[in-house]
Amino acid sequence: MSEDKKLELTWSEPKGHGAPEPCLNFEVFDKAEGTHLTCGAVFEVCATPRCSCHAVCVHSAPLLPDGTATPGLLRWFWLDLQERAVEMTPELKADPAALHQAEVISKQMASTAWDELDHWFWTAKIEAIERAEVAAIDINDLPNADDGHLVPFIEVFL
Ligand SMILES: [Zn+2]
Repeated sequence: MSEDKKLELTWSEPKGHGAPEPCLNFEVFDKAEGTHLTCGAVFEVCATPRCSCHAVCVHSAPLLPDGTATPGLLRWFWLDLQERAVEMTPELKADPAALHQAEVISKQMASTAWDELDHWFWTAKIEAIERAEVAAIDINDLPNADDGHLVPFIEVFL
């Protein structure tokens, strides 16, 4: 794969109803084997209803010849969509294979793919909010509604 080839998203066909989910295939160089491995990644928004972060959790794994994830090799890490960068955590630092996958994705993803992920983030975040248990929603620091004005949805949640 040439260095300047950019990674684009693909979209999975939803089963039943629901919006298509973004997926990404990419290649990493496996030092132990001395070969390139094809990996697949899926994305999940931060599902904490009132969290203001702009992050997606990436779940990635080398793919088997039939296109399914290799059991036991699933890695996960966070990408910050605003910074368009990997969110460094102690766990990620301690796992070179995950870190390598995170770097490949963050450096090689096309800007159109970042745009699409950003767009998808808002749809998926609103879905996550709608599914959230009311009791699980943090009600501290709600926007002030004492004067009887309606508070826009977006100010409560995002
Ligand atoms: Zn969050």
